[in-house]
Amino acid sequence: MNKNSSNIMALAPNTSNKRETVCIFGTGDFGRALGHKMIQSGYPVVYGSRSTQISNLIPKDAEVLSHAEAAQKAAIIIIAIQRQHYNFLIPLAEILRGKVLVDISNNLKLNQYPESNAEYLAQLLPGSKVVKAFNTVSAWALQSGTLDASRQVFVCGDDVEAKQMVMNIVHALSLTPLDKGSLLAAQEIENYPLQLFPMWKFPIFLSLGLTAFFFFYCLALDVIYTYIYEKNNFSFFIAITIPNRVCPVVALILLALVYLPGIFAAIIQLYRGTKYRRFPDWLDKWMLCRKQLGLIALAFASLHVVFTLVTPLRAFVSWRTSKGIISQVLNNKTEPLNSTNAWISDSYLALGILGFFLFVLLGITSLPSVSNNVNWREFRFVQSKLGYLALILCTAHTLVYGGKWFLSPSAYKWYLPNIYMLSLVVPCAVLVVKFVLIFPCVDKPLTQIRQGWERNPKHSE
Ligand code: NAP
Repeated sequence: MNKNSSNIMALAPNTSNKRETVCIFGTGDFGRALGHKMIQSGYPVVYGSRSTQISNLIPKDAEVLSHAEAAQKAAIIIIAIQRQHYNFLIPLAEILRGKVLVDISNNLKLNQYPESNAEYLAQLLPGSKVVKAFNTVSAWALQSGTLDASRQVFVCGDDVEAKQMVMNIVHALSLTPLDKGSLLAAQEIENYPLQLFPMWKFPIFLSLGLTAFFFFYCLALDVIYTYIYEKNNFSFFIAITIPNRVCPVVALILLALVYLPGIFAAIIQLYRGTKYRRFPDWLDKWMLCRKQLGLIALAFASLHVVFTLVTPLRAFVSWRTSKGIISQVLNNKTEPLNSTNAWISDSYLALGILGFFLFVLLGITSLPSVSNNVNWREFRFVQSKLGYLALILCTAHTLVYGGKWFLSPSAYKWYLPNIYMLSLVVPCAVLVVKFVLIFPCVDKPLTQIRQGWERNPKHSE
């Protein structure tokens, strides 16, 4: 074929666009939903079922045949049947030889069987090409068209051509295939829908634990202590005052905990003199959930902003303000402006605003749509340099706001330190150690270790 004719072919309408028939074994919820979507996307669909009676639930344009008859009509067969029934496929082994079998099954528990369902299917039918796909998409989402959040379809399989055929179908259904490699990845793909926020568990439990601890701490010192010793009923503090103390404290501690594992990692590397030994498991897990810790911290910081903005609307605040004005009127004396106090209040507000701005910036750059558009250096600059700056600003905000109580004996109710003092322990520790780590005499060997240098190469694994 000459060059011109190939160009003409490329410009001519594609007449071979007709989709190939796809066979689906099983007319259950998922089989029907997938068949419906495939027919909409232009695929002729034939069902293989134990009963060839057409029911109202089956997509209108689909055929329903016996398993053997249906399998003969297509090169790709989707097995929309639970794993425990796979034995019925063994007598069909000859008909299924050379065909692409798509395993879409899920289990009820993580690692329920020694091997993945897809590998089990491949063992039962060694003559067929098994591909794992579609198990992370629900029948309901397929049918209702609400697939915006879960367009990704993980695909894996040992036969590259078979995998490509399945990925083409995924594409044609307006979904996004993600090649996860060979069938060895099937177990991980099958475990995926069974996981409940895997990376969020530790950050959520930690933030709930911190919130509960600081809430009861404030309740004891600000409400119960005041009631017992000053006979004041400040129980309404539970609604806004206490949450507005707890939220910034938890946000600050969580933000510091985002940077603490990096500090531990640096100390461990310096101590070992190599980067080629694995970190302890707890540190690995902690590092992997830093983004989630940061996002939860941002949520707490945002709540603090909202609670602070509504402060002027509170009855308690207007009562306190009018009480101050009335006492000045009664004493016939205007309090002069205390410029130190004015400086302190303006400074902590400015530090808080700037810290929150950087906090939001960190949150935005952690979104995949944004982080995919910056290179590694830019991402590190924002997450590390600007992140530390946010931590410094937020720590300074707390220090300036709460500092006035540190030396005041009245702040030590029941000999306990003020909540702001407690909140500063972790952030200050992180900042002090980080400051030490950037000293050239520490930073230089650390940088060398991270570039592959080893103090004692024979000890590295
Ligand atoms: P289902 O409603 O229980 O349907 C399963 C189908 O399997 C039945 O309708 C039946 O079809 C066939 N079947 C049942 N017993 C059989 C046997 N002894 N021998 C041969 N065929 C038998 O289940 P489903 O919800 O559609 O799920 C099917 C598969 O898709 C499962 O492996 C599931 O893990 C996976 N999946 C489901 C979803 C979902 O949202 N439902 C999402 C992802 C993956 P016939 O009556 O036509 O023979």
